[in-house]
Amino acid sequence: MAIGEASGEAAGETAGRDFIRDIIADDLAAKRRSKVVTRFPPEPNGYLHIGHAKSICLNFGVAEEFGGQCHLRFDDTNPTKEEQEYIDAIKADVRWLGFDWGAHLHHASDYFEQLFAWAEHLIQSGKAYVDDQSQDEMRAKRGTLTEAGQNSPFRERKVEENLDLFRRMRAGEFDNGARVLRAKIDMASGNINLRDPVLYRILKAHHPRTGTAWSIYPSYDFAHGQSDAIEGITHSLCTLEFEDHRPLYEWFLANLPVPSKPRQYEFARLNLTYTVLSKRVLTELVRGGHVKSWDDPRMPTLAGLRRRGVPPESLRDFVKRIGVSKSNSIVDMGMLDFSIREVLNTTAQRRMAVLRPLKVVIENYPESKTEELEAVNHPENEAAGTRKLHFGREIYVERDDFMEVPEKKFYRLSPGSEVRLRYAYFITCREIVKNAAGEVTELRCIYDPATKGGNAPDGRKVKATLHWVSAADAVKAEVRIFNQLFSKPDPDASNFAGDLNPQSMEVLADCQIERSLVDYKAPVQFERQGYFCRDIDSTPQKLVFNRTVGLRDTYSKVSGVKPPGQK
Ligand code: ATP
Ligand code: MG
Repeated sequence: MAIGEASGEAAGETAGRDFIRDIIADDLAAKRRSKVVTRFPPEPNGYLHIGHAKSICLNFGVAEEFGGQCHLRFDDTNPTKEEQEYIDAIKADVRWLGFDWGAHLHHASDYFEQLFAWAEHLIQSGKAYVDDQSQDEMRAKRGTLTEAGQNSPFRERKVEENLDLFRRMRAGEFDNGARVLRAKIDMASGNINLRDPVLYRILKAHHPRTGTAWSIYPSYDFAHGQSDAIEGITHSLCTLEFEDHRPLYEWFLANLPVPSKPRQYEFARLNLTYTVLSKRVLTELVRGGHVKSWDDPRMPTLAGLRRRGVPPESLRDFVKRIGVSKSNSIVDMGMLDFSIREVLNTTAQRRMAVLRPLKVVIENYPESKTEELEAVNHPENEAAGTRKLHFGREIYVERDDFMEVPEKKFYRLSPGSEVRLRYAYFITCREIVKNAAGEVTELRCIYDPATKGGNAPDGRKVKATLHWVSAADAVKAEVRIFNQLFSKPDPDASNFAGDLNPQSMEVLADCQIERSLVDYKAPVQFERQGYFCRDIDSTPQKLVFNRTVGLRDTYSKVSGVKPPGQK
């Protein structure tokens, strides 16, 4: 897989055709289907991540485009790993992303009774049997890709005995793991999924919805296709790792009296550089304390992205750009950042915030004087209006905007240099104040009163325009800067700890921000810094902001791949 290789012809375009949409359009045109019904089937064993967003946008998207419907179905067949918290979070995330399942909220557990009846049907037709072998024995006899498996000694059990044992499994007579129900297909099949797959296992566990009603639970394979059939799903879209399960999916539909015949289609899952899209790993990140929570802004979860300030429109735009295809690839994180900037650039108002403050005293500005200067809220949207900035003798500028000994091409503040303060005046640095350790603590500057508004009447030019805030009026705030969670573009999912980026979060505790930000709650651009949003950790005493994304792409420097629109 090549990093940055966008999957599918839709890459970089907004055109919406892909092989799935072609199949659906053909089915409708040929009247093989009269209506499109899809489903998004999360297992509630963790929070949704951006990979799921691809599946959600695809399933809900095609249903919308073809006038059909999309179901939200919880694939809740493994009660040991599933929790109500995850069910609630998944619903909130799908809604936030902009989709609505209407009346079509379902659970695989709604079908447990029907699935049980179908399991009995298979037993009665000689196509399923109760196996008493241990898990290890079954594994040892499953064979390999090149070697056939061996039949279980319990394979020829009589129908009556199988029925009796299966009912007693349900009644809770046997311990966890003592027996399973298996389909009787073919232990020599070239497809390992067809070597008498497990249909039911004994699991005495509390289920979030069915409580302790069941002592046995169906396998994913036995539940999934039949749930699709019960709900009248027409196109069951899943990721490529289920391609080898399709023959089994079809075997169940062919051997059971199901009410409809869905079809399964597989597409490539989303992989992203510098992160891991696997609920198992994400769970370990949370449980192991590597991040603070599921909604930690460094997480690729939808909850984390939302908290970081990523608008849902950006995720939908991103998914559209990467397209849908049948070949796996790893998408560059820069592509996501591109979609985030695309949306925020047009929606986020501009404000000024100084993240690493350096005090500037304007010596020739009268001590008692203050002024109100007008600032534009959005350069491309007049309707966003203007606001007043407080200006006085003492201001803060960004520490990085000063160099005592300027490098070549450094045009910002340095001894003797003149710069423009955005919306204010030209200032010239006259003197540097240092502390005992030799660190610069203050700049002494003078301003030119004739340059009010940022232009010199004599036409002289400056090469830099700096953002600033008034020391008397600014508000202190904390700003959190997030970097990649992993230091490698392709972290090792099975042993990720060593690949974590120790600098994934930087906390700037002494920022000085424009006072207007106290009442402004929407996503915002801090001029020259990036896009930010207010974090839920904010209190009336202390505002906290998250950097959603910087203004420029930094990933492409690492991977060499540039997102669309960048030269
Ligand atoms: P994970 O591997 O992260 O645990 P999963 O496949 O087990 O994911 P499910 O809850 O079973 O998670 O996924 C629900 C749906 O989302 C499935 O149809 C699955 O194929 C799809 N999906 C999961 N991960 C991705 C991904 N990275 N890209 C696209 N679709 C995905
Ligand atoms: Mg899964």
